[in-house]
Amino acid sequence: MKALVKFAPGVGNVQLMDVPEPEYGDSEIRVKIAYAGLCGTDLHVYNDTFRNYPPVILGHELSGVVEAVGSNVKQYAPGDRVAILGSNKIICGHCKYCKTGYYMFCSTRRGMGHGTNGGFTKYVVAREDMLFKIPDAMSLKEAAISEAFASSVQAVEEVAHLVAGDTVLITGPGPIGLMCLLLTAAKGVRTYVAGTSSDAERLRIAESLGAVCVDVQREDLAARIMGDTCGRGVDVVFECSGNPAAITLAISLVRPMGQFVQMGLGATKVEMNVEQLVHKRICLCGSVGHSMNTWEIMMRIFRSGKIDLKPIITHEMPLSKWEEAFELMRQQKALKIILYYDFE
Ligand SMILES: [Zn+2]
Ligand SMILES: [Zn+2]
Repeated sequence: MKALVKFAPGVGNVQLMDVPEPEYGDSEIRVKIAYAGLCGTDLHVYNDTFRNYPPVILGHELSGVVEAVGSNVKQYAPGDRVAILGSNKIICGHCKYCKTGYYMFCSTRRGMGHGTNGGFTKYVVAREDMLFKIPDAMSLKEAAISEAFASSVQAVEEVAHLVAGDTVLITGPGPIGLMCLLLTAAKGVRTYVAGTSSDAERLRIAESLGAVCVDVQREDLAARIMGDTCGRGVDVVFECSGNPAAITLAISLVRPMGQFVQMGLGATKVEMNVEQLVHKRICLCGSVGHSMNTWEIMMRIFRSGKIDLKPIITHEMPLSKWEEAFELMRQQKALKIILYYDFE
């Protein structure tokens, strides 16, 4: 089969290669990939700015159909349509985090697509606990972005404390920010989405999903938020840009006793008035990835049929055009790109 492989350390060193179809053990399942979402992490692996273990097949946001199961597998049968959790492919299984389903923090963890073979190919092999059957009404295209959506589910449903009537600010209208918006909008929470002029298309999508959009290069975000909230500020910020200036500004827009959730990466040093945390009793926290609990919550959300992930997927491309897809992603021209296998 063909696979998109990071074949050596360093910048680039990614190409389509012929690899053997993966064998599966007695407790494993072989899944034929339907769609694989392209993620910022794939670009980081390409650029060698995210830890990776070549030779490794890229791609970790996956959906597919069960093709074959090992003799010990009980819960799955060929033909089952599944979303794949690739982040816990290699874990120790016995640390405090593994035992409680918080695999993200296992020190020996290696996820699919960078630490072990991923899904920009025809087949992957997984354990039962890595697969989630999707509802009949859900498409395999939407299921492909489950792993990315899970990051937003954790932040909105587990880390933040939102109640009806709250006001939220999301800074950075990328896929994670807009998937947070899907969740806050479904709750009826008034949601501002802030971006720059280069985000015009993304802000247009956010608006169609129910957000109040602010282009910070055309409008004073602080004046708008403070004006609309009678000088109080927002209840919760989901910071999805990773931009230091956006972070400094957004913290100042949190109401007393409100919450600031950092999700965006890239800002290692940020200027902030620490005293405002004290005076306003702001809760500052981070959210990364997801846990077993998040996937349980997410599958319930999928079964409810209340969230439509389709507007987040702006491009569907064959794996043979991966270079074009990576370039679209680099230029931030797409929201979510999903790839499908187009070889024999
Ligand atoms: Zn990802
Ligand atoms: Zn562990």
